[in-house]
Amino acid sequence: MPREVLVIHGGAGRFRPSILEERAAIEEALRSALYDGMSALSSGNALDAVEAAVKSMEGSGVFNAGKGASLNLLGEQELDASVMFGRDLSFGAVASLKYTWNAVSLARKVMERTDHVFLVGYGADKLAEALGFERIPPPSPRLLERYRELLEKVRSLGYDLWRRNFEIVRLFLPDTVGAVALDRDGNLAAATSTGGLWLKLPGRVGDTPLPGAGVYAENGVVAVSATGIGELIARYLAAARVAFKVKSGVSVEQAVRDVVHEVTRLFSEENTIGLIALDAAGNIGIHSNCEVFLRGYTFKGGEPRVALLGSEEPH
Ligand code: ASP
Repeated sequence: MPREVLVIHGGAGRFRPSILEERAAIEEALRSALYDGMSALSSGNALDAVEAAVKSMEGSGVFNAGKGASLNLLGEQELDASVMFGRDLSFGAVASLKYTWNAVSLARKVMERTDHVFLVGYGADKLAEALGFERIPPPSPRLLERYRELLEKVRSLGYDLWRRNFEIVRLFLPDTVGAVALDRDGNLAAATSTGGLWLKLPGRVGDTPLPGAGVYAENGVVAVSATGIGELIARYLAAARVAFKVKSGVSVEQAVRDVVHEVTRLFSEENTIGLIALDAAGNIGIHSNCEVFLRGYTFKGGEPRVALLGSEEPH
């Protein structure tokens, strides 16, 4: 019987001093997500586990997803999320949600309750409303303050807000959330959820809801969730590349290292990608080129472990 394993991330990117001030809250939110995901894994399957873990992080307000989602250039929240079940490659995604915080569960509804795989904007929010999803609360004072600070900083640096968005995103940490799980029946699942990049152009969608980019799961092979600069991750199809490597016999640890290395070399830049992955035997691959990589894992009968800095061992 395969061992039950759950791996999560809460985003990756550049170091910022506030991460150390917020350490206790971040670690607690990661541990709660591991707890919620593991409870779902014990009573259900891998899909239930990734949904529960991601929902927990969306609801915490601590990460750039769900209630804590970043604000776009106009100061609005626009959420993207996806979920994939390796048993039959079923997939669901939503993007540019404006009124619904629990994006991952809505992505699962798209997968299970509609004939489609991807709903965006108005249609996705309408589905959420019809299914009785809670509306997203107004952005917290902390988010509004960060929005104002960033806008000022960007203006003082003289960036063109509409055309140099890619430079703007390098100024701060993204904090997207994701999870991968393996259940006792050998099913693999993955989910990813984000508010996207701070000050993104309205309507911008990154890698998070794209299969093979920010998420992928296939039984017998691997489950992957990515975080980082979506424009690069999507162009490189990072999650799919991990899967191809594992399929061709590369270990999951090596596959995530290779893909992070390739992305770094191709785009000549660090602090651009973090990957978590899990193979069919429950081996874990976690790697990033980032100073900060919020992450954690647990397995049946084991202690949950979490880490914040890229250089730090999960504890
Ligand atoms: N990958 C996400 C995006 O580009 C951001 C993140 O990972 O934090 O939308």
